[in-house]
Amino acid sequence: MSDTDGKKTLGLRGGGPRSGNVKQSFSHGRTKNVVVETKRKRVVVPKPGAGKSSGVGTAGSGDPSRRPAGISDAEMARRLKAVQAAKAREVEEAAERAANEKAREEERARRRAELEAKEREQREAEERAKAKAEEEERKRKESEDVAKRAAADAAAASAKPEAGKADAPRNVGANKPAGGQPQTPRKSDRERDERGRNNRGRDDGRRSGKLTLNQAMSGAEGGRHRSMAAMKRKQERARLKALGTVEREKVVRDVQLPEAIVVSELANRMAERVGEVVKSLMQMGMMVTQNQTIDADTAELIIEEFGHKVVRVSDSDVEHVIQQVEDDDDNLKPRPPVVTVMGHVDHGKTSILDAIRNARVVSGEAGGITQHIGAYQVKTDDGAVLTFLDTPGHAAFTSMRSRGAQVTDIVVLVVAADDAVMPQTIEAINHAKAAEVPMIIAINKCDKPDANPDKVRTDLLQHEVIVEKMSGDVQDVEVSAITGAGLDQLLEAIALQAELLELHANPDRAAQGAVIEAQLDVGRGPVATVLIQNGTLKQGDIFVVGEQYGKVRALINDKGDRVKEAGPSVPVEVLGLNGTPEAGDVLNVTETEAQAREIAEYRANAAKDKRAAAGAATTLEQLMQKAKDDETVSELPILVKADVQGSAEAIVQAMEKIGNDEVRVRVLHYGVGAITESDIGLAEASGAPVMGFNVRANASARNTANQKGVEIRYYSVIYDLVDDVKAAASGLLSAEIRETFIGYAQIKEVFKVSNVGKVAGCLVTEGVARRSAGVRLLRDNVVIHEGTLKTLKRFKDEVSEVQSGQECGMAFDNYDDIRPGDVIEIFEREEVTRTLA
Ligand code: GDP
Ligand code: MG
Repeated sequence: MSDTDGKKTLGLRGGGPRSGNVKQSFSHGRTKNVVVETKRKRVVVPKPGAGKSSGVGTAGSGDPSRRPAGISDAEMARRLKAVQAAKAREVEEAAERAANEKAREEERARRRAELEAKEREQREAEERAKAKAEEEERKRKESEDVAKRAAADAAAASAKPEAGKADAPRNVGANKPAGGQPQTPRKSDRERDERGRNNRGRDDGRRSGKLTLNQAMSGAEGGRHRSMAAMKRKQERARLKALGTVEREKVVRDVQLPEAIVVSELANRMAERVGEVVKSLMQMGMMVTQNQTIDADTAELIIEEFGHKVVRVSDSDVEHVIQQVEDDDDNLKPRPPVVTVMGHVDHGKTSILDAIRNARVVSGEAGGITQHIGAYQVKTDDGAVLTFLDTPGHAAFTSMRSRGAQVTDIVVLVVAADDAVMPQTIEAINHAKAAEVPMIIAINKCDKPDANPDKVRTDLLQHEVIVEKMSGDVQDVEVSAITGAGLDQLLEAIALQAELLELHANPDRAAQGAVIEAQLDVGRGPVATVLIQNGTLKQGDIFVVGEQYGKVRALINDKGDRVKEAGPSVPVEVLGLNGTPEAGDVLNVTETEAQAREIAEYRANAAKDKRAAAGAATTLEQLMQKAKDDETVSELPILVKADVQGSAEAIVQAMEKIGNDEVRVRVLHYGVGAITESDIGLAEASGAPVMGFNVRANASARNTANQKGVEIRYYSVIYDLVDDVKAAASGLLSAEIRETFIGYAQIKEVFKVSNVGKVAGCLVTEGVARRSAGVRLLRDNVVIHEGTLKTLKRFKDEVSEVQSGQECGMAFDNYDDIRPGDVIEIFEREEVTRTLA
């Protein structure tokens, strides 16, 4: 079938060969014509056999004879209509009724037709004369057909009146709409007829050819095959609809569009010719070569113009290669817990860690101190394996967490029994709570005569840590790092807690881990101690870790032995890095070194950008750090940019006053001047909105904000700003906008006009300038004046509005300090009804 479709056009010409016009169309090549002709015939061939099909060949000559004498045009049209209706009905019914059967039948018919076609081809080659006989036969068919149609007309709705009539419309131009294209709108029929008339000699053939092809597409036998075609069309439509594609002839591609793209690459991604793309760019007024880079917005226009779909990607998408696949439950195996020891200084953290290690580590290493790896594993008497992080202290814990590596499963909080709950103890409690990591209290130094474990327990109550002895659910164990008393119980308590946590990991996947510590070793190069969190790290694996990457050259376990691989919860020293990562950096195994390098480079650049953007990097990072770490109180982070230092400080002060025990506003950063891209970067990183007080975002910042989904809010009244933040802090912030910017105008020139003062010659660049609206004068994106217009002129006339793209003259009421390059912002205030909650 598709074969036939493909040669449709040729077929039209070939259609006439055996009619009188044949010879004209032969100029295109006899062979082809013959072939096509045959095919056309073939498709048309109805079941009855060659007789019918041979009739087709003579189609061209049929025109005058096709209509039975005595039937008027009107009558004819009426009949056709009736036939059409019947056919349409039938098409639908049939399609629904027996799609499969038809498919089979059609297949059979097709095969038959093919055979016949071949036969005919032979016959044709052999004897041309036969064509005449065929013609006669065809004529006979025609009359038959006409008779049938009349019958159909009479019994308009009767089923299958069209069967076997497929060839009739082919022969007869006027029948075409009825037979071949029942659904074609009349207009096109008329058009075609007209074309036919203009070009009659050949066109009879052509027209009939078209019809034939329609038939051909529908199948060999009239009604049945048209039904088939209708069904197919229907299916095709449904398919296209399902695909969301409207265009038939074109493949619509999803074009990945980064922030900037080289023209040739853009063409490549669209699978369009570079020349076409360049041409199209030129039509847009962009004179570029294929090697030039264009921005995403321009590229988007081009992509749309070519009918493709834009998929905006950002550089960070390189990270996607390491995006996690969720593990199937089936693949998950229990893993040892990872334990961090925390507590106030000198309460004995190091002593406890050492005591446990020395008691549990294989005797050969009795020295204990020789070990340099920042974590170790021990086995309890019951055989449970526990992983201890040998990096006590909150800094390690929080810095890791802030880097996205939550490695700790259980916190052992060490409190000295001869002391009490101290500031760092409280800090540790908060950290553990924030991280939602269960705690076990180790009451240390119980060997001391002045030890008072119960005081520790009561002290802890004040910080909402209720130990088991106080009928809470936090395990508490009395220990002594010096005597070793209670250490076994402590390990048991840990094992029990671990059991409750049901810790699992999938050892059979690419490894992911967290750097516990890293240093540059003189002899061995950069070395990182990594705690494997999921999967298994193997020698030879390629990985990215933070801003570094590498290939595992060697793995050394906590006992100093070289190992081939390390599974979940196993701490291991990794050699083979290209640089030294930082504690808390996450290690991911990638497939290729290129991927690893790409990700590492991307991260390095991003970090550099961020540092550059931050300006006062440390302060800002610290702020964000705290905002992230301190999760006991939920915080609303914001960025504030203001026109002058005074207002910035006033806002920050006001912000600090907002909040209660649950919510606090944290100003991550504040500054003076326009909102820049770096502000947006920071805001994005911490999910904060940017509050602009009498300042605006510059163009690039605006774009970035749009892209990254960072909210920018503009204010000109401190009270409004404070009010909004208050509302946001209590979760009530409405998306109401107090002001709408309706337009922007750029000052091109400044004129002095007597009696009026300074008048700005402006170009409205965006939206509309309205006489009645409020206006602000922006210089370098900072609001330097707000007021109203004294005049809005278009040429000499005072007007109420000037549209974007037009020039106008503007002057402010009571304000004269205007300069070329300044921007006038035109805004309208809206009534905001606030709901009181
Ligand atoms: P860290 O700062 O929490 O790591 O505490 P250290 O482990 O460095 O211990 C501080 C001091 O307390 C050291 O002088 C230890 O010898 C001592 N110490 C630690 N645990 C115990 C204990 O269980 N009993 C006694 N008597 N002293 C201990
Ligand atoms: Mg210590």
